[in-house]
Amino acid sequence: METKRSSNFIRQIIDEDLRTGKHKQIITRFPPEPNGYLHVGHAKALCVNFGIAEDYPGAYCNLRFDDTNPLKEDLHFIEAIQDDISWMGFQWHGDIKYASAYFDKLHDYAVQLIKMGKAYVCRLSTDEMKTYRGTLTEPGKESPDRNRSIEENLAMFEKMRDGVYDEGSYTLRAKIDMNSGNVNMRDPVIYRILKATHPMLGNKWVIYPMYDYTHCLSDSLEYITHSLCTLEFQDHRPLYDWFIDTLRCESHPQQIEFARLNVNYTVTSKRKLRALVENKLVDAWDDPRMPTLKGMRRRGYTPSAIKDFCERVGVTKKETTIDISLLEECVREDLNKNALRAFCVLDPLKLVIENYPQGKKEQVSAPNHPQNPDMGSRPLPFSRDIYIERDDFAEVPPKGYFRLSPGQEVRLRYAYIIRCEKVVKDASGKVTELRCSYDPDTLGKNPVGRKVKGVIHWVSAADAVPAVVRLYDRLFTVPDPTEKEKDGIPYTDFFNPHSLERRDHAIVEASLRNAAPETHFQFERLGYFTVDRDSRDKPLTFNRTVSLRETR
Ligand code: ATP
Ligand code: MG
Repeated sequence: METKRSSNFIRQIIDEDLRTGKHKQIITRFPPEPNGYLHVGHAKALCVNFGIAEDYPGAYCNLRFDDTNPLKEDLHFIEAIQDDISWMGFQWHGDIKYASAYFDKLHDYAVQLIKMGKAYVCRLSTDEMKTYRGTLTEPGKESPDRNRSIEENLAMFEKMRDGVYDEGSYTLRAKIDMNSGNVNMRDPVIYRILKATHPMLGNKWVIYPMYDYTHCLSDSLEYITHSLCTLEFQDHRPLYDWFIDTLRCESHPQQIEFARLNVNYTVTSKRKLRALVENKLVDAWDDPRMPTLKGMRRRGYTPSAIKDFCERVGVTKKETTIDISLLEECVREDLNKNALRAFCVLDPLKLVIENYPQGKKEQVSAPNHPQNPDMGSRPLPFSRDIYIERDDFAEVPPKGYFRLSPGQEVRLRYAYIIRCEKVVKDASGKVTELRCSYDPDTLGKNPVGRKVKGVIHWVSAADAVPAVVRLYDRLFTVPDPTEKEKDGIPYTDFFNPHSLERRDHAIVEASLRNAAPETHFQFERLGYFTVDRDSRDKPLTFNRTVSLRETR
């Protein structure tokens, strides 16, 4: 299924730019910082940027790693991000780009700014700079170094670059306006001293350009036409434009902001997701409860479901929080169409069909997808001993109970009608086995005049394959786990301790014995499940992607 993308305010701007001839070719970029894994929020940015590249003739999208902070970045993340983008089915243009590949040019630009009298070396510490910066209501105060001569600035910047000064002793700042109503324009830092090893460039540099400075100039160097980012960058746009205008760059990309994707009952911030891993609340970045693309993939989400979700969320300038049930609905719809049906018993209860011949085995036929005959059918082994779901039996059935109970009939899906004749219990009173009879004339048909309402799933005991099934629930117990952070209550306090429930003694039908990781199934009556990669070293493990229908 490929989602047809609809127009939005960004596409309208692009349409207009093409119509007026402002641009002949559209170029976008996706600029992740390689300091974590991509999450569902990034999926939206992927769909926006790569979606435009796919839909406009001749357009393309660059993948550029914004690797300006060597303290937090890692090659491992660079690989993982590429892997996720490819899995989503998106293709970046040409070679992968790195902001660090522009460090020489960025350095030249900085020298140019100094020569223009538009940048200066400043001795203020981070803390001092904060006080000097002023607030939204108060103007800032000029640095004592603001009027240092161009010659001295050039000499000092060279010393910064050559490692003469200690980390934190100096910065290079743009000379803009300490009285600006926009604090981002109050002489922002453009270079800092960091004696760290960079994942791509090793120890080549001891000064590193700041994000705001790097980002716009990298966009310009790549001739990006539309630099699409999230709303928090709106107040940075004047600075984005200032660098490009001041340096008279050939290309001036247009920054356009759109609303971040927020989803309730989860968090979409790399920092917050990292803390879940570090505090061992989840197993890893790719824990199937995590809203990372790696986690969602493991959980059983498909790229088309995620794209469909992003399309339904749309692209606007209004911050909203999307209900997680919409995400679940998207994957449910996709898997409903494509997942093979199968039988799994989560909590097995043995059932012996006393009038079924000992040692006899037959194969009944089960459709792989009841609504889609093109998906074929499979043989299901049937025998005297089978397993049913423990909660498909009630010794004392509540009113309106149509499943199995003493003396009552039920249909075994795709097989026979059985009747419960006897209940076997252990010393503690726990039901250990059901003794039943079957009617051989009821295979796939209901004899006239006989009404059997209940239909239950089952697995033949001799052919059952042991499995571990992980049932997942929401990551947090409240819709907005970060809401109380301002009162000092950390979001981790709302972690849902029941977000994972393991069924270690489940069984699945024989045809699933060699099911490959990432294969999706609908376990009839239970939900959609996906084979986990842990299954490579037995036992077969399934993750519940989503239940059959919204249960809340
Ligand atoms: P985080 O806050 O999780 O660390 P980030 O914005 O720092 O995310 P980047 O790696 O800098 O992460 O993001 C790459 C791109 O993805 C940016 O253009 C950013 O605007 C976009 N992006 C990040 N989070 C979201 C989100 N929740 N919704 C939409 N776009 C997002
Ligand atoms: Mg960021």
